[in-house]
Amino acid sequence: MRGGINPYLYGEGNPLSRNDPLGLLSFFVHGQVTLQAFEGTGFSERFAWEVARANIQFDFIGGGATQEIDMAYSHGMRPPNESPAQAKAKWESFVNYQIGLCNAQGLGWAIHGLQDAAAAGHQDFQEYGGILRWRMIPHMFGDVFPSSTARVEALATTRKAIEQFREKCGCR
Ligand SMILES: [Zn+2]
Repeated sequence: MRGGINPYLYGEGNPLSRNDPLGLLSFFVHGQVTLQAFEGTGFSERFAWEVARANIQFDFIGGGATQEIDMAYSHGMRPPNESPAQAKAKWESFVNYQIGLCNAQGLGWAIHGLQDAAAAGHQDFQEYGGILRWRMIPHMFGDVFPSSTARVEALATTRKAIEQFREKCGCR
């Protein structure tokens, strides 16, 4: 860079390259969008919170076992040895299976996968790349402008999942 000093070396670094390694921002957004999607659906507040909690906890199950590379599909991504189509097929059956369990945890996990796939950083079942080798998922859901189209899409797919659940399992 001209002038010799990269301004991003100051302070917190380039904000566009940061990806919330602890997932704090992203789990907040996961919960928020889930509760918002339940508004006006007739489901009880208790059930909505159970689903939101299951969604948030998904990334932390087994000390992060759900973030292993072979479960990339459940976050709307893929390992290097899978095509986007293969990962998408796994993701779809994961979501459908979890919804079909007819319980709060299953719906929460399904919604987690749907919301992750809506994140700009996960679009089109991107490869995890090297990040998974460090067992850190680039959970960009909350990092990439939560109020943008990603959030709108996440809200829409979450509502759709809730409706699918209602059709299959009834209201809770
Ligand atoms: Zn995730």
